Amino acid sequence: MEIENEVKETIRNHNLIKEGDKVVVALSGGKDSTSILYILKKIGYNVEGLMIDLYLGEWSKIHNEKMTKFCEENNIPLTIVDLKKELGQGICFIKAVLKEQKNLTGCTVCGIIKRWILNKWAKKIGADKLVTGHNLDDEAQNVLMNFLKGNILLGVNSSPATGGSEVEGFVQRIKPLFFVPESEIMKYAKEKKFDILYDKCPCAFGTYRVETREWLEGVSNNEKMKIVKNFQKLVSRLKGENVTEIRLCRECGEPSRGEICNACKIFGCLNSK
Ligand code: AMP
Ligand code: ZN
Repeated sequence: MEIENEVKETIRNHNLIKEGDKVVVALSGGKDSTSILYILKKIGYNVEGLMIDLYLGEWSKIHNEKMTKFCEENNIPLTIVDLKKELGQGICFIKAVLKEQKNLTGCTVCGIIKRWILNKWAKKIGADKLVTGHNLDDEAQNVLMNFLKGNILLGVNSSPATGGSEVEGFVQRIKPLFFVPESEIMKYAKEKKFDILYDKCPCAFGTYRVETREWLEGVSNNEKMKIVKNFQKLVSRLKGENVTEIRLCRECGEPSRGEICNACKIFGCLNSK
């Protein structure tokens, strides 16, 4: 129950959802996105699910089946985007090509592709808001990772609401679990007996994020909250220093910080294969 109140408070304090908004939840099939979908539906918002089938073997197959069942049982429309139909390849092939050609490893490639597809499809299904399941632990990891990389400005857009209606072509992304610790979400999902997979993505091993996550394991939720909230205080001051204009990608027409978006750079590598 506590989580539900925290979510309501974050939505209210940060003006995340307006009355009548069509709220589309990006579903990985894990505990975070499933819980936020369930909570937003319970509060009474007009919600839908949007999931990308990444073709991660059995793992994706089970997630798809479980989310399809979950959405049917809870009377929530669900769109599953087939990555192979979208891009011609599954995620493992795409990651292998990018590792070979650009030495891009970890979760970077997957993150770029997910964001590109989610924004495109959220527009297609008429979303006013696109929800992700990012939680307090994810945000604390981001602050530390950027700090350790020596570039805290990378986190300048860190907030419960990013993108926005003022940016052409961008569906506003919102994170109602921004201040909710992962351990609380795990407890909630288990209490509700959600029939989902509780393990982490099988691809995310040996990455900087995983190391940072392990590093934060002994840190209390209270301290994680301080890391995130104190960084939030800094963000408003940092913003002026790092404003990059968003424009539309020359190739695909999606929002981009450069002339060509990061997704199209990846597609360029795939086409040269
Ligand atoms: P991750 O980057 O895997 O930690 O996921 C962060 C958030 O992105 C999740 O909470 C979901 O909201 C969203 N997400 C991750 N994977 C998918 C997917 N395959 N399809 C749709 N949304 C996803
Ligand atoms: Zn592009």
